[in-house]
Amino acid sequence: MCDPPAGIPRPAAEPELPETEGTSMSGEPGTDDGHRRPPTLAAKRANVGGGAHRLIRRKPHRRVAAAAVAAGALVGVGYPLTANAIDPSALAVMRLASTTDAPATESVPVPVEPARPDARAQAAQLEASEALRLQINERARAAEQARQAAVAAEQARLAAAKVAEERARQQAAAKPAPAVQQSTGRYARPAVGRFTSGFGGRWGTTHYGVDIANSIGTPILAAAAGTIEEAGPASGFGLWVRVRHEDGTVTVYGHVNTITVSEGQRVQAGQQIATMGNRGQSTGPHLHFEVWLDGGRKVNPVPWLAERGITL
Ligand SMILES: [Zn+2]
Repeated sequence: MCDPPAGIPRPAAEPELPETEGTSMSGEPGTDDGHRRPPTLAAKRANVGGGAHRLIRRKPHRRVAAAAVAAGALVGVGYPLTANAIDPSALAVMRLASTTDAPATESVPVPVEPARPDARAQAAQLEASEALRLQINERARAAEQARQAAVAAEQARLAAAKVAEERARQQAAAKPAPAVQQSTGRYARPAVGRFTSGFGGRWGTTHYGVDIANSIGTPILAAAAGTIEEAGPASGFGLWVRVRHEDGTVTVYGHVNTITVSEGQRVQAGQQIATMGNRGQSTGPHLHFEVWLDGGRKVNPVPWLAERGITL
């Protein structure tokens, strides 16, 4: 009805206050827009007009956050309602604070931190067990080497024992022959004496017979019945006598001193055919006795005689 008073613009500006206030007081406690936005004219006015009102409302808000930061333990001890009502940035500060606060740390769950010492401990444990495993392997290897060395030593010992046994056997075989001449009627021992050398390899060559040592003049007998095939000088044997038997086998008697039969003469087993000598390649009075199978193959006289009941 009448001209409005000069204060008209003010009432028009007033409604802005609740609007601004509403923004800051909206249900978003985390966004305090008032800090980031440059103060507008309206805001300045608001500060002038309703500033006190807003400050009063804000103060408790900050105080809650500050109180929460200062007393983070309270939240930690269990006041979720208070925490929900607090600015998230304040919560972040609280977390930082609580990490340095020993009592609070106990009740605030921190899922990542405790795993690290465990991982380090596990790594150390793995390293230790690996070192132990290597140590065990090394010990096993050493034990295996020692075992192999022991096996080799045992094999060498057995080989030496075998050699010693063979030597003892030969020495026993070389013992003086019985005084009585061995004869089965069909076969006879060619001479009485010591068995001094066997058949086989000897001094880099092959010894194709056996040696029976005794004094010069000791009777030499036909090992079996047969015919005197040859009686006379022979290279290396000095003098020898060869007797061919019924089955074609030939027995040979070397180094003889004298021959008591003639070629072509029929002899019986155990009949004297010569005397022991030291002729030819001989180092002492002995009989060198060989057995040639039919065809000329020279065999060991020991088993050949043994099969016929004669022991040398
Ligand atoms: Zn010989």
